[in-house]
Amino acid sequence: MAPHPSHVRIGVHVSISGSIDRAVDNALSIGCSAFQIFTRNPRGWAAKPLQEQDAKRFRTKLDSSGIGRDAVFAHMPYLPNLASPKQEIYSRSLAVLVEEIRRCSMLGIGMLVIHLGSHMGSSKEQGMQSIVNACNEALKERDDVTILLENMAGQRNSIGASIDELGRLFRMLDGRRVGVCIDTCHLFAAGYELRSRDSLDKLVYELDRHIGLKNIRLLHLNDSKHALGSSADRHEHIGLGYIGEEGFRNILAMEEFRSIPWILETPVDSRRDDAGNIRKVRELAMLI
Ligand code: ZN
Ligand code: MN
Ligand code: MN
Repeated sequence: MAPHPSHVRIGVHVSISGSIDRAVDNALSIGCSAFQIFTRNPRGWAAKPLQEQDAKRFRTKLDSSGIGRDAVFAHMPYLPNLASPKQEIYSRSLAVLVEEIRRCSMLGIGMLVIHLGSHMGSSKEQGMQSIVNACNEALKERDDVTILLENMAGQRNSIGASIDELGRLFRMLDGRRVGVCIDTCHLFAAGYELRSRDSLDKLVYELDRHIGLKNIRLLHLNDSKHALGSSADRHEHIGLGYIGEEGFRNILAMEEFRSIPWILETPVDSRRDDAGNIRKVRELAMLI
């Protein structure tokens, strides 16, 4: 039996444009019971410091929103590469991670999703060790923020596209405030078949064996613009990509996934908007 529909938490990545507390309004206006934000412009290195009065407005709105703190996530900006073998890039990346941890703490956001980055041709071991060092350093900053390691699509030199490797990284950090975020588009791009019940049973088994299901704190639900094993990180509307409606129907029926918050990072274009993708997920998850 699936849990009661109201226990399923669904949301999207929402904009903070205007002021950061607007993210909560944006989430509520499209019926989210979970959401994710960038705490700042994700495309630059530098960010204006977060003011306590702005953080406070966010916390106040969040507290009265009915959205639980375990269903609110921040995502690291795009430029940092925590796996970089270049000292300067690594240091700048670590500085951004430290700053994001502080911002999350101020906002009352308990979970920060990070991309694992690229070792740029040096070695897997170097890349993984850099990520571990960065997380260890950053976690010293605050004790109320957990870092979620997100699986990658398998672009050249990237770390953490395989469940096995993600598991190894998780164990290198075990005992720290670390969890895992699983992205369906990235899994599919990395070559994991997840459209059939059989493949999903295998997948859940692998996730549990290497990572532990209880350590998976977030699912990123995205369809894929490219075919299985493409290594391309290109998100598509739910059901309109290669995973497809039937694939998502099977994914969303998995008992193991229904207790973890679902966040969509799907496009917004003439075909569909965020509310449309949430509606599609509810339909395929048999929640409406
Ligand atoms: Zn991500
Ligand atoms: Mn993602
Ligand atoms: Mn992606």
